[in-house]
Amino acid sequence: MTARRLSGTELAATLREELKLEVERFTEHHRCIPTLAAVLVGNDPASEVYVRNKERAAQAVGMQSQLHRLDASASLQALLDLVQQLNHDPRVHGILVQLPLPDRLDATCVLDAIHCDKDVDAFHPDNVGRMLQGRPRFLPCTPHGVQLLLSRNGISLSGQHVVILGRSDIVGKPLAAMLMQRSSPYGPDAANATVTICHSQTSDLASIARTGDVVVAAIGRPRFVTADMVRPGATVVDVGINRVAGELVGDVDFTSVAAIAAAITPVPGGVGPLTIAMLLRNTLSAAQMQVPRQRPPDRSA
Ligand code: NAP
Repeated sequence: MTARRLSGTELAATLREELKLEVERFTEHHRCIPTLAAVLVGNDPASEVYVRNKERAAQAVGMQSQLHRLDASASLQALLDLVQQLNHDPRVHGILVQLPLPDRLDATCVLDAIHCDKDVDAFHPDNVGRMLQGRPRFLPCTPHGVQLLLSRNGISLSGQHVVILGRSDIVGKPLAAMLMQRSSPYGPDAANATVTICHSQTSDLASIARTGDVVVAAIGRPRFVTADMVRPGATVVDVGINRVAGELVGDVDFTSVAAIAAAITPVPGGVGPLTIAMLLRNTLSAAQMQVPRQRPPDRSA
C-alpha cells in the first residue's frame, strides 16, 4: 500500500482564499479591519521567524497585524501592562504572545492575563474549559488544523480509535478533548472518536499505537513512529517538527510508514501550514464577536 498524502499546504491555500473573502465582507460591512497583535519578548531567531510569518499571513488575507516588542530584559510587570493595554484597545481583536518566553517570565501568568475574547491561541483556562465542555469560543490552532485536515479529506473519525502520542497543553490534550466530543464545527464525523493518549511513561506504546485507526504523533522525537507501530491501512498524522542536520523532519518515519498506511501527512507541508491559517480564522471570529453589528437602517424616517 502506498499512502495517500494529506497536504496541509494545499488546504492552507484554500483556507486563505476563503478567509480573504470573509475578511473583505467583514471589513466592508463593519468598516473595521480584523487586527492581530503579536507580542515578542527578546530576539530569539526562531520566534522572530514565526512572528514574521504570522504577520505576513495576516496581511495576505486583508487583516491588520501589529508587532509589540519588549526587550529580553523586560520585567513581568511590563509584559502584563502591555497585555492589559492590548486587552483594552478596541482596535485589537486578537492577541498572541509568542512562546517561549525567557525562563524568568512565568508564561502561564502572562497567557492567563490575555482577555478570553482576544485569546486567539485558545490557551486561556476559560477557553480550554469551554472547549472541553463542547462549547468552544476558539479552537486551539494546531489541533484545529488536524481536525480540519482529516475532515476535508473525507476521513471520518466517528467510532474510530484515535491514538495520540503526546499530552502537551498545546497539541495532545486539546486534540484529545476535541476529537472525543459528540460533534464539531465540521459535523459529528469529525469527532465522536474513541481516544487514547500515550506519553513518555506509557508502557508498550508501540502495541497501543498499532490499535489506532488513526495515529497522531506530537512528541518532538524525529522519526520515532516506525512502520511496526502502525496498523496497515491506518491514517497517520505527523505534528512533529524537528530539525535534523539542517533538514525538517517529523515524528514519523515517513518512508516506511507511508508504505503501509492508507493516508499520511508529510513534514514539511502537513499540519504545519494549517496552524497559522487557524490562528487567522480565530482572529476573524474574535473580530466578529467584538465588533458590534451595525444597526439596520431606520426605515420609519
Ligand atoms: P511537548 O510540550 O514537548 O510535549 C511532548 C509530549 O510528547 C509530552 O507529552 C511527552 O511526554 C511526550 N513524549 C516525549 N517523548 C516521548 C517518548 N519517547 N515516548 C512517548 N511520549 C513522549 O511538545 P509539543 O509542544 O506538544 O510539540 C510536539 C511536537 O509537535 C514538536 O516537534 C513540535 O515542534 C511540534 N509542533 C508542531 C506544531 C505545528 O504547527 N505543526 C505546533 C506545535 C508543536 P511527557 O508528558 O510524559 O513528558
